Amino acid sequence: MVLGLVILTLIVISCVSSQRRRSPYAEWWRVALCLFLVGNAAFLLNGTDFQLWANPVGKVLVVAGSFCIWAGARTLRDHRVHPWFLAAASIPSGIASALDDPGNSVWSGGLVYLGLTSLGITLAGLELWFAKPVRSRITRFLSIIAGLTALYYLFRTVSFVLDGPTSQVFRTFFGYAPAALMHLILLVAVSSTMNTLSNKQLIKRLRERADRDHLTGLLNRGAFLELAARSLAESSPRGAALILADLDNFKAVNDEHGHAAGDSALRAFAAACTSSVRSSDLVARYGGEEFVLLLPGATQQRAEAIASDISGRLAAMKGPDGLPFPTVSYGVTSTGADVQDLAFLINVADAALYSAKAQGRNRVVGADPADAEAAPEASHPPS
Ligand code: GH3
Ligand code: MG
Ligand code: MG
Repeated sequence: MVLGLVILTLIVISCVSSQRRRSPYAEWWRVALCLFLVGNAAFLLNGTDFQLWANPVGKVLVVAGSFCIWAGARTLRDHRVHPWFLAAASIPSGIASALDDPGNSVWSGGLVYLGLTSLGITLAGLELWFAKPVRSRITRFLSIIAGLTALYYLFRTVSFVLDGPTSQVFRTFFGYAPAALMHLILLVAVSSTMNTLSNKQLIKRLRERADRDHLTGLLNRGAFLELAARSLAESSPRGAALILADLDNFKAVNDEHGHAAGDSALRAFAAACTSSVRSSDLVARYGGEEFVLLLPGATQQRAEAIASDISGRLAAMKGPDGLPFPTVSYGVTSTGADVQDLAFLINVADAALYSAKAQGRNRVVGADPADAEAAPEASHPPS
């Protein structure tokens, strides 16, 4: 009863204090609270005629609740848990209970129930410990609380097996009442830190969204310039290559097939880029139908091969109505150990791109920054 009332209070507090925009972490925690509430309410029917079905149901719900804490913790690392996985993890405790005389034994299927609950909480503790980049003293604290709860469940399981649920030891230290105390500590710890963690998660997501181009999901120009300048400085001994790409006669795609077809070509090109480069490379929509890639450690030759590879991938894709996507022109440049300034590299690549267009489009043109040192500023205006 006490545990149920505390959970109910926590649910009310979380609803009253909820912001309009909710974080996935907070959502999962609320689902966990509701499962604990209904699960514990089902346990209140122990000793009545309803125990036969209420006991297995209560066990399924409490196990599902503990896996929801894990699912919530996983969202801090942007990992997801499929609802089917939660069902698969919790239903065995109901089956084990149903097969073990649940009408007469409150602890029917107890081993599976305790084992699975302890597994869910252990996984949550591990997730919180490694919850980068939202990691903070709070996640460490929660991880320790979850670890202690998991340890308690481990002892509870061992005592259940060795002493039995009716023994003095089990009832004194691991029965429903002492376990409720442990649950209260866990509930209060998670609830009291909920808003802080949930806000951190929302801020992180908003910041990520602000750095991304809405249509293609690639970095936007501002984020690219910032990250690329940092990456160039860090990759100085190895050098880097820069590719500037522009879709050919793209205006005609829009004019002849509509804006939606143009958008899908932009998305397809973005997908071709990301599948051709390494995850450590930077790919951005520079503006309109222009894209820019920075490949730290890549040579001029390698960067030119990657540009051809991107065009090959795009040519193999088909648009929504089977229409071919437009061809692409590239300007490629690279730098050795004496790292050039980013704006200079972009200018050199832009001049090479202009030359690719002038030579008839659908090609890769390379430019050596050393040769371009004295060359005039690129005259190709950004579209
Ligand atoms: P070129 O081969 O010389 O690059 O010719 P182009 O037609 O590709 O270049 P231009 O600069 O004349 O046209 C670019 C077009 O890109 C015009 C603009 O409407 C279109 N565009 C820019 N952003 C978007 C977008 O987000 N979606 C769609 N569908 N079109 C876009
Ligand atoms: Mg173009
Ligand atoms: Mg353009």
